Amino acid sequence: MKSAEIRDAYLKFFESKGHTIVPSSSLIPGNDPTLLFTNAGMVQFKDVFLGGDKRPYNRATSSQRCVRAGGKHNDLENVGYTARHHTFFEMLGNFSFGDYFKRDAIVYAWEFLTSKDWLNISADKLTVTVYASDDEAYDIWAKEIGVPTERIIRIGDNKGAPYASDNFWAMGDTGPCGPCTEIFYDHGADIWGGPPGSPEEDGDRFIEIWNNVFMQFNRTPDGVLHPLPAPSVDTGMGLERISAVMQHVHSNYEIDLFQHLLKAAAEATGNSDMENKSLRVIADHIRSCSFLVVDGVTPSNEGRGYVLRRIIRRAIRHGHQLGQKQPFFHKLVKALAEVMGDAYPELVKGQAQIERVLLAEEEQFEKTLDKGISVLEDALTKISGSEIPGQVVFTLYDTYGFPVDLTNDIAREKGLTIDLPGYEAAMDEQRKRARAAGSFKVDYTAAGLDLPVSEFMGYGSLAEKGKVIALLKDGAKVERLVEG
Ligand code: ATP
Ligand code: MG
Ligand code: MG
Ligand code: MG
Repeated sequence: MKSAEIRDAYLKFFESKGHTIVPSSSLIPGNDPTLLFTNAGMVQFKDVFLGGDKRPYNRATSSQRCVRAGGKHNDLENVGYTARHHTFFEMLGNFSFGDYFKRDAIVYAWEFLTSKDWLNISADKLTVTVYASDDEAYDIWAKEIGVPTERIIRIGDNKGAPYASDNFWAMGDTGPCGPCTEIFYDHGADIWGGPPGSPEEDGDRFIEIWNNVFMQFNRTPDGVLHPLPAPSVDTGMGLERISAVMQHVHSNYEIDLFQHLLKAAAEATGNSDMENKSLRVIADHIRSCSFLVVDGVTPSNEGRGYVLRRIIRRAIRHGHQLGQKQPFFHKLVKALAEVMGDAYPELVKGQAQIERVLLAEEEQFEKTLDKGISVLEDALTKISGSEIPGQVVFTLYDTYGFPVDLTNDIAREKGLTIDLPGYEAAMDEQRKRARAAGSFKVDYTAAGLDLPVSEFMGYGSLAEKGKVIALLKDGAKVERLVEG
């Protein structure tokens, strides 16, 4: 099955179960200033879960475009390192707003995955998890569905690892949340990794394909959980991950859609090894960058625009790594419009504009990239340990336009780390100098924004209204009024 067919089948299946098909919303959450980007299908329904918004339906299904490159769910660092993470992906979802709850959600998910009429996946390849104390979900899986108990795993809250299992799902630090049950597909013993909850769970053998969240609470900024007006359901299945399963390949990058992008990236960079990591990163990044531009983000030095700029620069650097010194990234928009234009006509309509925006960024960064890389190479011959000094990271940022995460990406490839505190200290110094020279119109520190740089993503654009907004790494915003 092609990914486009899987998307259609999913929506049809849930339509046949009384769900209204709702189009994907924008990557820029319209109703939520606490969120950097739409990171799940439920985002456009947040207020429906909270009870503040009423819709003419109480069951919905969608294929939602998502970006996870900042905020609570951030997979930028995983791209190129795992078989399953993208910055941009599509999330298939079904939603119940105070209608059905645990039993129907589980029964529907199982039917769609395993029924001969639908995906027909062999049940013995599937392992499920439930929230540690959720006996109700456990019993539905064990007694009603008949999953063998050795393949039902109880998992609690995970307070640490970036992508270790966690069976209490939350959109962000505040908002709707609840216990969940997840479905994993076993890609086979020849791939490294263990079942969820095991020490090897972050390997790519058991890949999480579908999360069914039992939305029950609203978490307020004080951390308190308030019951929602009605127990609800929010699910999310990554289209690329389920496509890999259906196309009998392991990595998302091997699916139909990505093969087309990889071929285009190979041509544009003159590299033909389709498993090359840099090529995969480029194929991933063209999707997030193009869709962000389509949804109205432009590269800048602040907020969402800075996240976009960081992703574009990463892609350019990976092209450079493959020996491509001329602008190439914008050439991939055409291939993307070819594979995703049917589902997203706005890509076709916006193609020329996206190309222009990306090309302009490429031309700008090309000017300093080469020099920055040689400054870095030069610095590396002089260091003794395994850490790139903060001053070097700062110079790369300040003079050559290398976002810190880009330098970190290079460091990681070389088995090195970066001195973040040293970089922050250098940043502080520069701010002080700039203030002394009176070159800042707005004194951010005087505005009370003495924020750790590692948390800081960029400034919002409201300084002109006498207000300054700092966007933090976790998606939060800090707002201060500025005098004068
Ligand atoms: P993982 O543990 O693999 O990082 P997750 O638990 O963070 O995934 P959820 O927040 O539960 O993911 O999102 C629901 C579904 O969306 C996942 O089961 C997966 O199929 C898909 N998904 C999540 N993150 C990504 C991503 N970065 N790229 C592609 N698909 C994703
Ligand atoms: Mg994750
Ligand atoms: Mg997970
Ligand atoms: Mg999950």
